[in-house]
Amino acid sequence: MIDDKIFRAYDIRGITGQDIDNNFAFYLGKSFGTLLRREKPDARKASVGRDVRLSSKNLATYIIKGMISMGINVCDIGLCPTPLQYFSMYHLDLDGGIMVTGSHNPPEYNGFKLSIGKDTIFGEEIQKIRKIIEERSWKEFPVLGQIANFDIISAYHDFMVRRFSYLSGEEYRKIKVVVDAGNGTAGLVVTVVLEAMGCEVIRLYCEPDGRFPNHHPDPTVPENLKDLIRITEEKGADIGVGYDGDADRIGVIDSSGNIVWGDQLMIILSRDILKRVPGAAIIGDVKCSQVVFDDVERNGGRAIMWKTGHSLVKDKMKQEGAVLAGEFSGHIFIADDYYGYDDALYATFRLIEIMKKTGLGLQELLADIPHMYYTPEIRVDCPEDQKKARVESLVKRCKDYSLSGSGPLLIKKIYDIDGARVIFEKGWGLVRSSNTQPSIVMRFEAEDEQSLTLYRSFLEEELKKAKADAEAGAGVEKR
Ligand SMILES: [Zn+2]
Repeated sequence: MIDDKIFRAYDIRGITGQDIDNNFAFYLGKSFGTLLRREKPDARKASVGRDVRLSSKNLATYIIKGMISMGINVCDIGLCPTPLQYFSMYHLDLDGGIMVTGSHNPPEYNGFKLSIGKDTIFGEEIQKIRKIIEERSWKEFPVLGQIANFDIISAYHDFMVRRFSYLSGEEYRKIKVVVDAGNGTAGLVVTVVLEAMGCEVIRLYCEPDGRFPNHHPDPTVPENLKDLIRITEEKGADIGVGYDGDADRIGVIDSSGNIVWGDQLMIILSRDILKRVPGAAIIGDVKCSQVVFDDVERNGGRAIMWKTGHSLVKDKMKQEGAVLAGEFSGHIFIADDYYGYDDALYATFRLIEIMKKTGLGLQELLADIPHMYYTPEIRVDCPEDQKKARVESLVKRCKDYSLSGSGPLLIKKIYDIDGARVIFEKGWGLVRSSNTQPSIVMRFEAEDEQSLTLYRSFLEEELKKAKADAEAGAGVEKR
C-alpha cells in the first residue's frame, strides 16, 4: 500500500521507513524506467544522484536496481548537490534522471526529484508514476541496463572554473565570503570554485553529515542563519552564503549581518541581465516582493508572477522564454548563459561576479530600492488533507469580502494562481498551502509597519474562519 500524499505537486516525498523504503525505491526506479521509455521511446541513459541523508545511499541503490531492470543504463553520480544532477543531464546528454533528496525537510524525510528529458516532472506526470507503481504495469526489458560511475563534481568544478576564474585577476575587487553548507552537499563544490575566483573563503559546516549536527539546512528559517550572520560580521566578510541540504536554495547575508532574501537577490541579478538582454522575461513566485516586479518593469524587463515550486517555475520559464526566475525561498533559476535550473551554487558565482565587476557590496547594490516592511515565511501547521479545503475557502472568503466592499480594508486585487495573494492599498498578503510540508504558508509586505500588522491580522483572522469552514465540512457558503 502506498500513501497518496507522497506524490506531491512537484516531487515525491515522505517519511523514511514509514512512507518510503528501499522496496518503494526499487519500484519507483521501475516505474520511472517505464514512463521514460513510454515518453521517449529511444531513451537509454539516465543519471542518479543522492544527497547526504543517512537513507539516501540505500534508496539510490534500489532505484538504480529498478531502473536497470527496465534496460536503462544508469550513470551513478553518487553524493552531490541537486543542481549537479541537473548539470549531469546536460553535460552527459542524458535522457533523464533521478535525484534522491530530502532537500530542506526534517531529517526523517527523504524524497525524489524526477526528470524526463531535461525537465523535472510535476503534476500529472507524477501521478502517472504513481499509477504505474500501483498497477505494476511494467514490462521488464530483456537486457539489464549497465551501471557506470561518473565523477560529476570534477566535471562541474572544471566547467565553473573555466567560466569564472577570470575574476581572480588583480583588477577585480577582493571578496571575503563565509560559506555555511549546513553539513549538506554544497560544501563539496562551492568553496573550491570560490577560491578559484580569487575569493577568501571561510568555511562553516562544509563537511557533509546527514545528521545535520549544527543546524538544520534550511536557509529560509532565520534561526538557521544565526551562525552565518555572526561569523560574517565577526570576520568582516563581504557576504555570507548558506544553502539548503541539496544546494538548490540559497540564503545570503550582507556585510552588516542582514538577511538578503531571494527576491532581493533577484533584483541584483535581473538588473545585471537586463543590461545585456533588454526586454527579457523574468519570473518571480507569488511570495516575491512587489518591488521585484516593479524593478524588472522599470529596467525594461517583462515581469511575470507565477506559482511557487521548482518544477512549475522551470516549466513557466520555458513557456515564456524567461532568462531568470526566482523564488523568495532562495531557488534562483538562471537561463542567461546557463541551463535555467535552480542552482544555488551558480547563483552564488553570478552574485560574486557582479560584486567583483561593479566593485559594490550587496547593500550598495540594493541601496536605491524602496524600503518595505515585510515578514519572512510564516508557517501554520495544517494536516495534509485539510490544506486544500482551507486555502480554497480562504480564497473564496477574500473574493466575497472584496466584492462586498463593506469591510474596513480595501482589497485592490486578488491573484489566485497559487493560494491567494491579496493586494491591499499599501501592500499585500499571501496565503497558500505548502507543497512540501503539512502547513499553510503566509507572507506579508507593506509600506509601513501599521499596514503590515493590519493586513496580517486580517488574513490570519480569515484563515481561522476558513479552518472552521473546512472542519465543519460545510463548505464556504456558511459565512
Ligand atoms: Zn533543496
